[in-house]
Amino acid sequence: MSADLGTACNPLQVVIVGSGPSGFYAAEALFKAPCSVQVDMLEALPVPFGLVRYGVAPDHPKLKQPMQVFDGIARAPGFQFFGNVPAGRDLTVEDLQRTHHAILFAYGAGDDRRLGIDGEDLPGSHSAREFVGWYNGHPDDRDRRFDLSCEVAVVVGQGNVAVDVARILARPVDELRGTDIAEHALDALAASRVREIHIVGRRGPAQAKFTSKELRELGELTGCTVEVSAGDLRLGPACREELADKRNYVAARNLEIFQSWTGPRPGRAGKRIVFHFLKMPVSLGGRERLESIALERGVLCGAPFAQTVAGGGRVESLPCGLLFRSIGYRGRALDGLPFDARQGVLPHEGGRVGDRAGIYAAGWIKRGPSGIIGTNRADAVATVASLMSDLSRMDPASKPGAAGLQAALAHHGTRIVGYKDWLRLDAIEIERGARAGKPREKMTRVGEMMAALQ
Ligand code: NAP
Repeated sequence: MSADLGTACNPLQVVIVGSGPSGFYAAEALFKAPCSVQVDMLEALPVPFGLVRYGVAPDHPKLKQPMQVFDGIARAPGFQFFGNVPAGRDLTVEDLQRTHHAILFAYGAGDDRRLGIDGEDLPGSHSAREFVGWYNGHPDDRDRRFDLSCEVAVVVGQGNVAVDVARILARPVDELRGTDIAEHALDALAASRVREIHIVGRRGPAQAKFTSKELRELGELTGCTVEVSAGDLRLGPACREELADKRNYVAARNLEIFQSWTGPRPGRAGKRIVFHFLKMPVSLGGRERLESIALERGVLCGAPFAQTVAGGGRVESLPCGLLFRSIGYRGRALDGLPFDARQGVLPHEGGRVGDRAGIYAAGWIKRGPSGIIGTNRADAVATVASLMSDLSRMDPASKPGAAGLQAALAHHGTRIVGYKDWLRLDAIEIERGARAGKPREKMTRVGEMMAALQ
């Protein structure tokens, strides 16, 4: 690298925007490069770890283990964390180009896809992302209200986020008490009257996107039965062909799980989770607030693995008081960067954004909201490989890196939250959690975090 860049610009200064899994995995890949690299990481919130802290369900603590890896990366010499610094507010893309040789955007997907149907914004209709952020104590979602006084909730979409939402609604609240779920959510869930949760898919059981482990877990919840009508599991020739493909083993296993949930189910006195397939949301109804969802029976058409759904004409109404759209997250545009508004991602080639050397993307803002946390490691490695192969095209002048960021932020009066500050917040959260028998009690307001650092 030094040979390509010249000695004047050694070390290579890289700024990563976003401190979730893809940001940290990109930092890890950069530190493995055969050259001297300084990595600065910007995070809008005062606290790091993005979707691992705020996306992973509280009753899945093992999925939070990557935080330990990220902590090791953050302590590496050459790494600096800049929390409480939203890119685009105090620092523009141009500012970052002045301070660093390369910028790697890994700020995830902070928005939601829309159903685009009447009634979507009625009170009682929410995005799953808002609910997930709420029970995980995200400051942006902390003050949201979900009316848990109704008995029937609907989750539209059949991916793992839908499973998380249904499970948190169905799980006995006492089983959540020992998790890091936010206190306000625990209190609200303790008073919840939701008894029936309908998980609605527009396509069939062979196209549902759940992973089998997460799906099976729903059937193991205490005091809850899971139901699927056998008629919903009837398969056409294209679906049978999809399921016969060995690479599609997750869908085949999922079908077996669904089949085990047909027929009379014991214990109907408790909560129920009901799966629906081939039902397309047509509209949400209600005068003042959500009262029902209209679903049109769908028909699959097209070749195996490319089947889409068309309306079959028959519409039924499902009464409900609460609805979560769990149909995928969406990235947001950032001033100064090209944006693919249809996909909600930064357009890229091999992780290179636009035709300028020096701007890159990784994670959900690059490829869209798919994959598990580990998927972001290979994705970030691929982007960093592109970055490294561009070294000879980058500005060879030395760049100020962290010192440049500090100077620019001082000009705006931004209180930077460094990694040592985060470790103080972390210790406070763990101590507060210990008093309540939880792994941590998260601070859920930015003001509270900043006050604790005074
Ligand atoms: P997802 O897996 O992509 O599922 C989205 C669902 O929404 C699909 O069933 C999709 O159906 C449906 N959908 C999209 N547009 C729709 C519309 N207009 N009307 C009705 N349905 C619509 O997304 P996700 O659940 O948000 O999960 C995102 C990623 O995070 C996934 O890779 C997931 O595995 C991962 N995740 C993992 C875990 C875990 O490992 N425990 C937990 C949470 C999330 P079609 O197929 O018909 O488009």
